[in-house]
Amino acid sequence: MRWKVPLADVSMGPEELDAASRVLRSGWLSMGEVTSRFERAFAAYTGSRHALAVSNATAALHLAILALGIGRGDQVIVPALTFVATANALLYAGAEPVFADITGEADFSLSPAAVEAAITPRVRAIMVMHYGGYVCDMPAINAIAQRHGLAVIEDAAHAPGAALDGKKAGCLGDVGCFSFFANKNLTTGEGGMVVTDRDDLAERVSILRSHGMTSLTWDRHQGHAHTYDVVALGYNYRIDEMRSSLGLAQLEKLEENNQRRREITGWYWERLSGLPGLSLPYCRHRGIASAHLFPILLEAGIDRRRFMDEMKALGIQTSIHYPPVHQFSYHRQHCPAGPLPHTEAVGAREVTLPLYPAMSREDVETVAGAVAAALSLARTG
Ligand SMILES: *Cc1c(COP(=O)(O)O)cnc(C)c1O
Repeated sequence: MRWKVPLADVSMGPEELDAASRVLRSGWLSMGEVTSRFERAFAAYTGSRHALAVSNATAALHLAILALGIGRGDQVIVPALTFVATANALLYAGAEPVFADITGEADFSLSPAAVEAAITPRVRAIMVMHYGGYVCDMPAINAIAQRHGLAVIEDAAHAPGAALDGKKAGCLGDVGCFSFFANKNLTTGEGGMVVTDRDDLAERVSILRSHGMTSLTWDRHQGHAHTYDVVALGYNYRIDEMRSSLGLAQLEKLEENNQRRREITGWYWERLSGLPGLSLPYCRHRGIASAHLFPILLEAGIDRRRFMDEMKALGIQTSIHYPPVHQFSYHRQHCPAGPLPHTEAVGAREVTLPLYPAMSREDVETVAGAVAAALSLARTG
């Protein structure tokens, strides 16, 4: 399918190509000096004490949970309006996701009131997800966590560079996890990062990401160590040097790309506000967004399937973020959850429009024109 405007687009420039070919010529391909540089640069950028690069964000979330000592018998509060990996990482560790509702139709992140109501004696942590790159109400979430002695994990897959009250997403709780998957704001194809200010968590993540070993191939190559012990049941969640080199080059462009995404988001808001048949979440959001997604919410009288088909016929790719996790066959069976009215309403009526830094004002006009046309065709009543 050739789209007039695709949902997302990656841009790899000469900087990324040069960086990756330098690594390929260097003779050292897995986690080494380039990865260390990427980690230091990412830690400095986010303002966290530690940054540990891993193979993807799902691995990052799994390691964050393990590092906190969360496992069998423990519960963690999570949103259901998220990518399935957020909840799956808990299931890998043997812990139980407790799904809590989102705030409502203007803010698709965890509702602090719903979190508070979901607390049981077995809950150990709250895992938030900054939907679309809009930081959720962390002051309220942190206050609840503090009152109940819970840890806070941020799934910041959408939010590299997003900030609230001068602090960056990923550094607002105990531990933050980022994704560098192909469609994220900063991409290495596949990749992820764990950030934390806590030395104990960083040490645990560092050991678990590479087989539970006390020294790495790189250290032995450097002559720093001759042998190693295995002190935990670890994993191979390492990143490689090619990806880290892409990450360094992409990090240089992140601020500019995020700024561009915010500008495009502003054009959309200007063009679409007041259009009958839809509402625009986050247009009064507090904080600096990384504007990963551009979500709209269709009114009840619009057939979403028809709307998306009409957009497709006009050459515009759209998507849904997200089918709620508690409604999947697997999760209905293994971690059933009560009704989540806001999550289910948004899950049934949300549509994501194209958003990527290379979009022009004309592309936004094209999409907005298509939205108006598709809305009138998809009206059911
Ligand atoms: C992309 C994404 C993930 C998973 O990231 P991977 O790097 O693909 O493992 C997790 N959570 C959210 C919210 C995501 O968008």
